[in-house]
Amino acid sequence: MPPQGPFPPDRATRPAQLYGELARRLRDGRLPPGSRLTERLLSQEFGASRTVVREAVSKLQATGLVRSVRGVGTLVVEPQEAGMPLPILAAGADRVRLHELRAGFESEAAVLAARRRTTDDLAAMKAALEATGGDIAFHLAVARATHNPHYGHILARILSATGDDGHDPAAHEGIFRAIEQRDGDTARAYMRMHLAAPSHHLPAAQRG
Ligand SMILES: [Zn+2]
Repeated sequence: MPPQGPFPPDRATRPAQLYGELARRLRDGRLPPGSRLTERLLSQEFGASRTVVREAVSKLQATGLVRSVRGVGTLVVEPQEAGMPLPILAAGADRVRLHELRAGFESEAAVLAARRRTTDDLAAMKAALEATGGDIAFHLAVARATHNPHYGHILARILSATGDDGHDPAAHEGIFRAIEQRDGDTARAYMRMHLAAPSHHLPAAQRG
């Protein structure tokens, strides 16, 4: 299939631009439920790097419109699944309260991730750590490493309302190392510190 749309070659294609195009295709049915998003094909079609494709796809995952299925890849979800009722989000999406909820939720996810993570999970976290704007992708990778799919689904819904927390490479690195070493207590402590409001808005160096 020839490239569609006004995409300049290679590096000029940005994650936001690719995300916008994929979201349009999801809305207008050109990517129907059950379609598979393949990194390699998207990268060819849009002349975008794999990193750009990965970032755009993780943004889509955060909206809940697509999800990653182990051994299968990234699939477009059925509309009723994307619209999974989550009353906390329907009730005005209060960012501060959602963030509080998220802090507790993700601290426990970090413990399970430390216990259950595979080398694939670590690779996904590492890719997110190294990607620009990889915050949401990193947190989703931790949630997926719990191997309890509810963590990923619910976190994706929460993040679609709160947005990312601003990249904090030092905190993410600490969480990653603890999960890698299967140290659940340290992973939880780092995650809690990272998401503790309002200090998560401050650079790591300013924390007490
Ligand atoms: Zn973060």
